[in-house]
Amino acid sequence: MINTDLQNVAEIIHKQRVFFQTDQTKDIAFRIERLKTLKQLIVENKQAIIQALQADLHKPEFEAYATEISIVQEIDYAIKHIKTWTKPKKAAVPREFFSYSARIYPEPLGVVLIIGAWNYPFNLVISPLVGAIAAGNCAILKPSELAPHTSNLLAKIIGKYFEPEYIAVLEGGVETSQKILAEKFDHIFFTGSTAVGKIIMAAAAEHLTPVTLELGGKSPCIVDTDINLEHTVRRITWGKFINAGQTCIAPDYILVDQKIKQNLVDGLKKCLKEFYGDHPEKNPDYARIVSQKHFERLANLLKSGEIIIGGETDPSERYIAPTLLDNVSLVDPVMQEEIFGPILPVIEYADITEAIALINSKPKPLALYLFSQSKQLQKRVLQETSSGGVCLNDTIMQFGVSSLPFGGVGDSGIGTYHGKASFDTFSHYKSVLRNSFWLDLNWRYAPYKGKLSIL
Ligand code: NAD
Repeated sequence: MINTDLQNVAEIIHKQRVFFQTDQTKDIAFRIERLKTLKQLIVENKQAIIQALQADLHKPEFEAYATEISIVQEIDYAIKHIKTWTKPKKAAVPREFFSYSARIYPEPLGVVLIIGAWNYPFNLVISPLVGAIAAGNCAILKPSELAPHTSNLLAKIIGKYFEPEYIAVLEGGVETSQKILAEKFDHIFFTGSTAVGKIIMAAAAEHLTPVTLELGGKSPCIVDTDINLEHTVRRITWGKFINAGQTCIAPDYILVDQKIKQNLVDGLKKCLKEFYGDHPEKNPDYARIVSQKHFERLANLLKSGEIIIGGETDPSERYIAPTLLDNVSLVDPVMQEEIFGPILPVIEYADITEAIALINSKPKPLALYLFSQSKQLQKRVLQETSSGGVCLNDTIMQFGVSSLPFGGVGDSGIGTYHGKASFDTFSHYKSVLRNSFWLDLNWRYAPYKGKLSIL
């Protein structure tokens, strides 16, 4: 049984350091074996994971599979590619270095810390762990206290399948985080808000620990006139209201060409009815807000602009109906902070230049969505905006492509993960230059007299 007593944080980290120094985690067969164990942990505990997500977020079973259990694909991907990833790579040397050879060796960092957020509480801890294991590290996991059922379950099952000197879960909130952060790690991987990201980075700086920060922001969704309207409304509705809008890459607000705004709004309203019916509060396919604090924050945001559809709330259930807002002003609170809930402002533009200027006036977002078949417009938006990632003519799906590094830029984060990017994040690339003894030219040795002309 794993020891999560905070008195023992330092002891657990020490044990992991000792274990790391045995070099067992450097063995590729060991890593593959442990990745298989992680997959087995998920497969054998699928029902318990789904139940914990239900208890924490009322997460529909389909969404639990599609967005959390599906992490097994990342494990399969890592197992498939690990031999290529871990192979030292040859590097070119200049012609005059003809007696040398150069190689780059990936090596594990050591003991790493992974701190998770509550919205995808299983995925956001396990997905980075796949990279940490593949790269040969020991890991401490700190799941979010706001999803306590998933956090408890993680502690239980990780403790059952892995030895704590290799992988351990430490549960708790801010105090626990701070206590853990006081210790020295070889890397900190954090998923959460931009505000807490700054706290993590400051704590890491004390030990000169490198960080990956997977943060949030307001991800815009541009809708041009050159679209298939039916596909557009379905893809936006799904991406926005999955997990009741509590998704870091959910479309935060829509910027729509004024010529198509009414059609889009009508389409979104119709689609909401199709997806969740007349009573989303009774629909098992619609999640709840994670905490009372977040419920109240979101209920306040409903005061911005005018409600087109939705707006109903039930504090006893932490329910907020899928809501579309019209006529919001850019200074309204709903346009000042990341919404992170089922509220979608629809803002029109007369010219795409206005939309681009609005996006560029805000901190760089984690995701940007553009619905348009116009190659010219796609090119322009890609060139004139900066965001962690872009998805054209769809939402959210970029998260599921292991070959695409996932991460933010500017306020939305530092570093990337998924697939090879996860392996890279938890590896140090060691440059190794090798000379041989068959020749030793003396052009660089003292006395230097007469040798300057060689350079
Ligand atoms: P949060 O920043 O409040 O908490 C994240 C983690 O940090 C939790 O484990 C929490 O215990 C810990 N923490 C909180 N305050 C702390 C402090 N003062 N010192 C040390 N640790 C502390 O974030 P959240 O509410 O769990 O998640 C929501 C945010 O996360 C949103 O901004 C969302 O966009 C972002 N997010 C980003 C991604 C991504 O992949 N980029 C994914 C999910 C969520």
